[in-house]
Amino acid sequence: MATTAVTTSSRMVTFTVSTARDILARPFSYESAKTLLFFYVVFTNFVKAKRHLRARGVSETVQELYRRILAFGIRLILRLPSKKKFVEQQMGEGKLKVEDKLVPKGPDVVRHLRLPETGQSPEWIIEEMQKMDSEIPGAPKYRQGKLSGAVYHGGEDMEKVIVDAYQRYCVSNPLHPEAFPAVRKMEAEIVAMCLRLYNNPSGAGAMTSGGTESIIMAVKTYRDWARATKGIIEPEMIVPITAHAAFDKGGAYMKVKVHSIPVDPVTRKVDLKRVRRAINPNTILLVGSAINFPDGNQDDITALGELAAKHKIGMHVDCCLGSFIMPFLEPAELSGGENGRYKLEPFDFRVRGVTSISCDTHKYGFAPKGTSVIMYRDADLRRHQYYVNPSWTGGVYASPGLAGSRPGALIAGTWAAMQYMGTSGYLKSCRDIVKCTRSIANAIRTSIPELYVLGSPPASVVAFASKHPLVNIAEVGDAMSRRGWHLNQLQNPPALHIACTRLTVPLDETFVEDLKDAVKEARLAPQGTGTMTQIYGLGTSTVVGPSMVGELAEAFLNSLYKA
Ligand SMILES: *Cc1c(COP(=O)(O)O)cnc(C)c1O
Repeated sequence: MATTAVTTSSRMVTFTVSTARDILARPFSYESAKTLLFFYVVFTNFVKAKRHLRARGVSETVQELYRRILAFGIRLILRLPSKKKFVEQQMGEGKLKVEDKLVPKGPDVVRHLRLPETGQSPEWIIEEMQKMDSEIPGAPKYRQGKLSGAVYHGGEDMEKVIVDAYQRYCVSNPLHPEAFPAVRKMEAEIVAMCLRLYNNPSGAGAMTSGGTESIIMAVKTYRDWARATKGIIEPEMIVPITAHAAFDKGGAYMKVKVHSIPVDPVTRKVDLKRVRRAINPNTILLVGSAINFPDGNQDDITALGELAAKHKIGMHVDCCLGSFIMPFLEPAELSGGENGRYKLEPFDFRVRGVTSISCDTHKYGFAPKGTSVIMYRDADLRRHQYYVNPSWTGGVYASPGLAGSRPGALIAGTWAAMQYMGTSGYLKSCRDIVKCTRSIANAIRTSIPELYVLGSPPASVVAFASKHPLVNIAEVGDAMSRRGWHLNQLQNPPALHIACTRLTVPLDETFVEDLKDAVKEARLAPQGTGTMTQIYGLGTSTVVGPSMVGELAEAFLNSLYKA
């Protein structure tokens, strides 16, 4: 296939070149300009299609096309009045279910839909918040630790440290550094501490509102860098399917084409052969995770870095989740482990070719939500993240990231959390959390034969799927929910994961016991009845699934704004 494509393409080139020569030999006319334009369009589209085909592979492209046509056909059928009514009824039920989980109902629920005539007292405000906290029965109690990720520290001592810092810098705004010198200094120091942690003290970085913004800013940086230094106007990036959705979001926002590359089903590392094949002259960026969100595994950062260096393109390592765990694995002497299964692999700026890293202070850094750090190999690259408008009517405008005004209180809270933890604090939390995760993974491997662990996750996340025909993993998820656990559901393959936090540390044995019971229960359950199962089934097994799940997801977003 590849050879045919190459010969066809060279024939095409010869053809285009000779046609162009003929046209140029003639006196220039409107007609010849039109012909020239025609061939230009045909040729560029041909090159685009060829690159797309190379990156996706033939069978995947054919499947993609088949799915699209089939989905289109089914959507047409569903427009038939009789079918339409049925689908609308089903969707309506689904949407109500989504809403019921989020929006409190009942005669006792007071809705605050307009401003009170006069201001309320501080006591009233706290009382009202207490009421709202308990308006949804059965909501997860995060302090009990049965929640995957979400709250990473949860200690009251840490809360006090953060609240005190908040209070002091409550009204500060880093957009005005002259007025708040301490906030400027703290932000610079947070970035400096992270750069040192990731072994690049002479690098450059910035704080953002979270991992998603760090990643979107990185995509923007490489887009503008590639345009400025290489003249690339149709940029593309290559991203493992296990990388965070923020990369797709960044691609959509910044108009960078995303090639999603499958991972090896056993190691869960991105398929390097496929990455290599997807690289073309428009590629601006390769992505690897250390660790990824779905199954907690780490891509081969060294090999990806080599590839990036060879092609002189960017290489971003997503350590949003790895944050303050990955850099402490080595000093915590958590290499080797049981049977040497967890070989520590390099992931930071010491790896040749790595040009940027995102690290979420608001995950295992235990800083307040709404903070993350994006780091670059040097300040030359960071320049392309900035937005500068020298001619704005409101004055010369310059800001490092998406936001204009920003909360200085979050920066102060982050600085305080990092000072409070210190190296020894993070080392201990790394040891405790990783030990908990590995003990769960080992227990699944050795004592729950119906399940298997995805890859060999080195840090704080473990994902598991079913290898038993009678055990539906979504049913296991439902059974775990009944035991108070809130785990994340994954797809392709269907699996569950738990991101261990400081709150889960004392619960590893409880988790394993509950999981054993949940598996037994799932074996006995009639197939496909659980709520998780139904949503899953929609997403993965039918052609229209994704668009219907998309509609439900939109209903979920709408519910968020239902007062
Ligand atoms: C959480 C996470 C992100 C995105 O972070 P947000 O802070 O939720 O925006 C990115 N990558 C990975 C691997 C993550 O786990």
